[in-house]
Amino acid sequence: MRLFGTQQNINGELHIGGMSVSQLKQQFGTPLYVYDFAYMKERAAMIRSAFTHPKISTGVMYASKAFLTLAMAQWIRDEKMLIEVVSDGELYTVAKANMPMERVFFHGNAKTFNDIQLAYQLRVGTIILDNEVEFKSFQQYHPGGFRQRVMLRLNPLVDSITHEYIQTTKNDSKFGVAPYSKETLELVSSIQEDDRFEFVGIHSHVGSQIVDPKTFYAQVDSMLQIVKAWSQKGIATKELNLGGGFGVAYTEQDAEIDLTIVLPQMLQQIELFCQSEGLTLPKVYIEPARSLIANAGLTLYTVHSTKRTDSGKEFCFVDGSMADHIRTVLYQATYDAVIATKMNLPEKQTYTVSGRACESGDILVRDVKLATPEPLDLLAVSTTGAYHYSMASNYNRFTKPAVVFVEQGKAKVVVQRETLDDVIRNDVPLYE
Ligand code: PLP
Repeated sequence: MRLFGTQQNINGELHIGGMSVSQLKQQFGTPLYVYDFAYMKERAAMIRSAFTHPKISTGVMYASKAFLTLAMAQWIRDEKMLIEVVSDGELYTVAKANMPMERVFFHGNAKTFNDIQLAYQLRVGTIILDNEVEFKSFQQYHPGGFRQRVMLRLNPLVDSITHEYIQTTKNDSKFGVAPYSKETLELVSSIQEDDRFEFVGIHSHVGSQIVDPKTFYAQVDSMLQIVKAWSQKGIATKELNLGGGFGVAYTEQDAEIDLTIVLPQMLQQIELFCQSEGLTLPKVYIEPARSLIANAGLTLYTVHSTKRTDSGKEFCFVDGSMADHIRTVLYQATYDAVIATKMNLPEKQTYTVSGRACESGDILVRDVKLATPEPLDLLAVSTTGAYHYSMASNYNRFTKPAVVFVEQGKAKVVVQRETLDDVIRNDVPLYE
């Protein structure tokens, strides 16, 4: 398994943030989501420094859907980053973390009445509109007395190579509107004509877990062509939001994107284009999530048992399940794992790591070579920092794991392990 950040093999045992996995298990139990806090900071610094340009004003906006808790929102606030939310729940979380509202961007293709109410009540900095119907709702409920900044999400039809569930700019994608259609231009005019709104620019997001830089250069090109075409119609794009999607390595074989090369290249492309077309340079945003935190997280499990089927397939069962690790079954995602207490022992046999859920699809890691697992060994699955805790469920009435941030030998619980009482918290009995 590839080791990221402060992960280290010390005498055959995996350490992260200066703590051994045995210490972590002893203090917090398993399954456990563990985040390498120093590595999160390192990634944030790298992304921010790569996404700067002498002539272009830039903003890095964390896409909170990948992982959001109060502590995470506080950290993003302290890192002086922007944040994007897609629901009243995400918005409420960042508000409770005292994130200044001018740093919040509100996404979503089907914002509800509650979303809109809360956005107005909290005075969210920027709304990223998905379509015309949504704009009408924002008009209808605008309480008056302030100008709401809005951006418009476009579908620039950029091809990407990734799982179809996380491609977002195919021509049948549910997100955004067609940049060149008459309806879209009318929508922009109606935003501009309503002085309760300030139209600041456009957004697109090509999809997630994309590792080919060419996809991002193609996206930049498509968006710049739109900026140019719209400018010829008198529509100024003051701000250009290019979304996230930068892919990371999940296994040793995976390619990953080098943001220190790709981000400066995207900005340079923007500078050159605007210069040659005589366009004013827009402020440019990106919305990374996975590339910021995926590799900083791992999930720690306790091995329950092993089983060899009649067909010869070897299972390694752990105390978690698809309820805390859904991406393998949802996206056929690949992962790496290690017996974290036997890192110096030979990985002789290939196993399917599976959990406790009553589903044959309950697979956490397919075909991974492991040192012989035995009950009570610890197994670590790497690169689970993004879209794991945030996608966790209570399927089979499992309790959700705790989440800890570790740094320099200390662990801070940022989400407590659910209890059995939490599982029934919202149940209403039929009889008192
Ligand atoms: N921005 C938007 C609009 C998204 O929908 C997503 C993820 O789906 C992201 C940013 C973050 O993507 P990633 O985690 O791949 O960087």
